[in-house]
Amino acid sequence: MAYMNKILRVDLTAGKITDEKLDEQTAKMFIGGRGLGAKIISDEVDSKTDPLSAANKIVFTTGPLTGTKAPTSGRFSASFKSPLTNTLTDCHAGGHFGPWLKMAGYDALIIQGKADEPVYLSISDETVELFDASEVWGKNTSQTDDILGKKHDGKVMCIGSAGEKQSLISSIMVNAKRALGRGGIGALLGSKNLKAIVALGSQKIAIQNDGFDRAVFEATALLKEKAVTGESLPSRGTTVLVHVINMNGMYPVKNFQESQWPFDKAELTSGERIRDEFFSGRQGCYGCPIVCGHKVKLEDGREFKSPEFETVWSFGADMDNTDFATIAEAGVLCDQYGLDTISAGATIAAAMELEEMGKINEGLKWGDREVILRAVHMMGKGEGFGEELAKGSKLLCEKYGAPEVSMAVKGMEMPAYDPRGAKGMGLAYATSNRGGCHLRAYMVSPEVLGTPKEMLDRFSTDGKARWTMDFQDISAFVDSLVLCRFTQFSLGIDNYAEMYAAATGIEFDAADLMKVGARIYNIERMYNLSAGLSKEDDTLPNRLLNERVTAGPARGQTVKLKGMLKEYYDLRGWSKEGVPEAWRLKEYGLDRGE
Ligand code: SF4
Repeated sequence: MAYMNKILRVDLTAGKITDEKLDEQTAKMFIGGRGLGAKIISDEVDSKTDPLSAANKIVFTTGPLTGTKAPTSGRFSASFKSPLTNTLTDCHAGGHFGPWLKMAGYDALIIQGKADEPVYLSISDETVELFDASEVWGKNTSQTDDILGKKHDGKVMCIGSAGEKQSLISSIMVNAKRALGRGGIGALLGSKNLKAIVALGSQKIAIQNDGFDRAVFEATALLKEKAVTGESLPSRGTTVLVHVINMNGMYPVKNFQESQWPFDKAELTSGERIRDEFFSGRQGCYGCPIVCGHKVKLEDGREFKSPEFETVWSFGADMDNTDFATIAEAGVLCDQYGLDTISAGATIAAAMELEEMGKINEGLKWGDREVILRAVHMMGKGEGFGEELAKGSKLLCEKYGAPEVSMAVKGMEMPAYDPRGAKGMGLAYATSNRGGCHLRAYMVSPEVLGTPKEMLDRFSTDGKARWTMDFQDISAFVDSLVLCRFTQFSLGIDNYAEMYAAATGIEFDAADLMKVGARIYNIERMYNLSAGLSKEDDTLPNRLLNERVTAGPARGQTVKLKGMLKEYYDLRGWSKEGVPEAWRLKEYGLDRGE
């Protein structure tokens, strides 16, 4: 129950399309979404595979709660070996595509091989077909979404020119508004000559329903009742965080050279100002009672999707740019070219620091509106210096002899939280399986926001290893259901376990949830180690480890990683080298190559 029990496999090289049965035991062990994707990649893609070769695969997965009445059930996942980080990576997006893929009858879609010419894929209840994509190849993501959405009356995900040119920081846009953003996922579709996928499903999702309605009712009530999901996100979107993070001295400025903006600067791009002066409407994902997405109307009358907090930061404080119109425009340009807004902004910020150091001479001045927009255009088209920028900050900074300027972990640019002001967040970044990501374990929640239950001492390292590990495991489970991570601000693990158990009819409690989450984290870890990563990659940029914050509430702080990391490895049951011990793998059922 709650599964469609079917996987769709599309071999682009052979032009072959097949249905396969979802293995029941695999679904029990890995749930769906991120977990199922990790298992399939782990089984089918050699860890040494060149990520942009035809041998790499991309696995789109729905979860047991996708398309159901569960709150935020509109999400789906994608798993792949990342061309940016070389790690097993997953991305998640809302919008409306996920439920339509599931209602077309599929728990997963495996894309493999490479088409000779650009194609797109259409999936409906009755048929799955590949079509010539010459009509949309070269078009931006909005145009492609519009053309294919109308033509097939379905929900679309697609790449823009950045993905076509295989930028290592390219994204896939979903319904032209939501992104599978990180790790260069767009380049994978580009490398396979696959421009877009359209889904149109109408099949019923069967639910066991032993208490499912009650579990959903309780979870939804909690989301409405708690301040973050009931008030802050609906009214101000994710940009509500600008003042919160800045006031705590954790808001990276000028490529993490500083960690607090003057209040007046932060105010110009704050959620409060955006709400008061630019707000023009709300837009949410399928089945979401929170509706964090907003629209904005600029002074010149142009109306855009409101940039998310991370975009407001990456094109704002990280570049010392206070012009909200530039941020909004840059965000929309990134969406249209199909670029990850975090990596794109952070890479331009790194280039601005290289310019400041005299390493390059591209006219990339901090906070210059024209320069910022020009850089995005060049990056999206892969033209001129944009070709360098489109590879991400790690390769860029290495090329110009200043690798320390790249604010990335495992090659992925970090988002809008300086971990010198929240030590658990530092450990979370360092041990994140997919690189510099805040979503593997959003330690900002207990360290800064005091959610879901208590506020931790953010400057202390005590107990942070346990908190980080638990957050990673819970998050891996939520990513596998697949539900929106914002629900974690308000729901406890019992809520997730109850909804899953009631929907599937599988007996399941909070302890099972933690075990499944840990299993997923460990299978990802094993894959990454096999791909060549090691404990040396569980680290942070030198700036965060050794340069003290110079001003603000986090003044004098660095991240003391070593002690937390040792404690974390011990708790995980990993050796000093960061390798999962055999007994631990056995405990998770991963000891037979599973
Ligand atoms: S909270 Fe926001 S991102 Fe999450 S499902 Fe709802 S609208 Fe989408």
